[in-house]
Amino acid sequence: MARPLRTCRCGHTKEHELVAEEPEYTLWGWILLSMFGITPKPDHVVYRCQMCRQSLGSTRDPKILARKSAPKRATAPVAEAPAGPSSAPGDDASHPEESTRT
Ligand SMILES: [Zn+2]
Repeated sequence: MARPLRTCRCGHTKEHELVAEEPEYTLWGWILLSMFGITPKPDHVVYRCQMCRQSLGSTRDPKILARKSAPKRATAPVAEAPAGPSSAPGDDASHPEESTRT
């Protein structure tokens, strides 16, 4: 039984680039979001066409939910710690070039 792919009235499927995965939150999620400014894990994700705002279904796939709840942030490399000897330890205090000039 092959289910026909749902399309919105523009003819977009879930995979279309104009169809976004929009996280939907529970009431508690909205409270967290508005009062505390933290992004809760969405209750589910709705596939919604950005053109006609028609929903093409929803998912509760935990992987997608996790992706939606985590802010998109490039994983910056760790600040390099100054570890390791950079040069020979303190041997440049003595200047053995004092010699008699003529
Ligand atoms: Zn549409």
